[in-house]
Amino acid sequence: MKEVYPDIFLIKEKGIFGAIKPPENIYILAGSDGIIFDAGYGTKKAVRHLTKEIKRIEQLYNEKNKEFKLTRILVSHCHPDHFSGLKRIRKALGIKVFLTQKSADIIKNKKSFIKSFETDAYKDYLRIRKTISRRIINGLRNVGSRLFYYRIYGVSYIDDPEEIIDSNSEIIINGEIWQIFPSPGHAIDHISLYNKEKGILFSGDNILRSITTWLGPPNCDVKDYINSIESIRELPNLKLIFAAHGSPIENPKERITDILLHREEREKQVLEIINDNSDNGIAPKDIIKAIYPQNSRFLHQVARGWIVLTLKMLEEKHLLRRQDTKKKILFFPVKMK
Ligand SMILES: [Zn+2]
Repeated sequence: MKEVYPDIFLIKEKGIFGAIKPPENIYILAGSDGIIFDAGYGTKKAVRHLTKEIKRIEQLYNEKNKEFKLTRILVSHCHPDHFSGLKRIRKALGIKVFLTQKSADIIKNKKSFIKSFETDAYKDYLRIRKTISRRIINGLRNVGSRLFYYRIYGVSYIDDPEEIIDSNSEIIINGEIWQIFPSPGHAIDHISLYNKEKGILFSGDNILRSITTWLGPPNCDVKDYINSIESIRELPNLKLIFAAHGSPIENPKERITDILLHREEREKQVLEIINDNSDNGIAPKDIIKAIYPQNSRFLHQVARGWIVLTLKMLEEKHLLRRQDTKKKILFFPVKMK
């Protein structure tokens, strides 16, 4: 653990398998009525590590004769690397779980959680044909990914949070006012936590220092994402961002501008490829290949998310035209009048 700001501690949780189980930041807002922001993975090992680190913080406070009491835990959004630890942490520390209604609905049980991310949205949009072999592969993949969620992430659902909080509200932490506000895009239930006096924002997965936030159906939306981070950029006195992955961001406005420019460039890139293929149109899978010429299946799978969402957004903006044929979907540019 590390004190990243007076009375704010960062506890890092190790990851494995690179992007599949990334290292995670959990923040402790320490004081007489403190909270934990984000719950991390829910494996026994992860929770043991977290509670041990919290004990160390408590000791520090005891030595300085400062009061230390954690009363609540709050999560930025309900992806497995953020909520899985809730139940075990609550039990280990005897604290209350605070959730927004949207988050609570997603993780109340296995069924609603699986519904929130397993979807035919790609298939519906890209019209991937459901051949028998494809069905078998998908079936195996689903079984595999579920095993993954329980074993590797330690996913555990929670149907009895102590309090449902308004996603647009104020919360008193250690006697200070913090603002909670919705910031959807990366996840439908994503919230941010902000303190205007300090200029500190806990951004969850929305703004990361060096990596691009993952975007993909069904619960992501590029337009929402852009709106969310644009309004974060406008926050009065924004000075410092603590993200769920990676180091603190000391130049928040520049970083957000960079992310917005990156999204704009990606949008242009997709449009250019469609313009270059205006005669015969282009299928989504060929757009993916044009952007990522490397023959990497993993890369294509990961990138598919933002490309599909960008196509959707461009279609909504009437900047491209989609032609559905029985066999495939083709995209054409919209002719400028
Ligand atoms: Zn996430």
